[in-house]
Amino acid sequence: METVIPRLLRDARHIAVLTGAGVSAESGIATFRDAQTGLWAKYRPEDLATPEAYQRNPRLVWEWYQWRRQVLSGVSPNPGHFALTEMEKRITGRGGQFTLITQNVDGLHRRAGSRNIVELHGNIGRVKCFAIGTIVETWEIAEDVPPRCPNCGGMLRPDVVWFGETLPPAALAQAIDAAETCDFFISAGTSTLVQPAASLPWLALQHNAFVLEINPNETPLTSFASAALHALSGEALPELVAAAFG
Ligand code: NAD
Repeated sequence: METVIPRLLRDARHIAVLTGAGVSAESGIATFRDAQTGLWAKYRPEDLATPEAYQRNPRLVWEWYQWRRQVLSGVSPNPGHFALTEMEKRITGRGGQFTLITQNVDGLHRRAGSRNIVELHGNIGRVKCFAIGTIVETWEIAEDVPPRCPNCGGMLRPDVVWFGETLPPAALAQAIDAAETCDFFISAGTSTLVQPAASLPWLALQHNAFVLEINPNETPLTSFASAALHALSGEALPELVAAAFG
């Protein structure tokens, strides 16, 4: 690891991190660009994760999310998630600021102990009413699928941002603010193809932050980043934290 990167990280006032599906890949969660498996192999996520798909076939979409929740219940956060938890502790422990912006809906950052998390695309563990948007904390598994909203009787859906939907405004504002005010920005495990999250590293660059990309593959960001580590996040993040904080 180049020595300047850990030093800049250690001295940063505000670190913002953007994570994508790649950070959960080493926990065994497929990225969208990997093929679906088993029963679901014949569907493209883009044909399941839209309001239109849900209106067309709510049972199918609900069952896909139930299957994804089941997969998630059998996996654990990986060393990349834990390294980010450690990074947050080290930075906030000496009065700095740390913002973890994630496009992942799997809740693994929270399970790993991260605290200041901005969930740009929602969380698969929550549901909300399709009709009125009210968040519902618990729901009954019933014959009738999808289950119904206890308030209005409307159909329940996962509290995630589907293709074609806008991001939660408060979360997006927080993410933009972090990108504009941080001095060290890490883009890890994201293809930087899905907007508006993809523009956050560029925003950080415009505001003079050091931008580090961690991804085994090239992305549109790679040649513009201040530095790029072509590595798995589950390996590179723990190494980075060890080199910076020892
Ligand atoms: P993406 O599938 O577009 O890209 C994943 C990126 O991760 C790729 O660039 C790939 O090279 C990289 N990658 C793969 N393995 C890696 C590893 N071990 N370490 C580091 N990088 C690795 O994912 P995206 O950019 O997050 O955007 C796709 C959308 O899919 C997002 O909106 C996200 O909400 C959604 N999604 C979320 C999950 C999840 O919650 N775990 C899973 C699939 C998709």
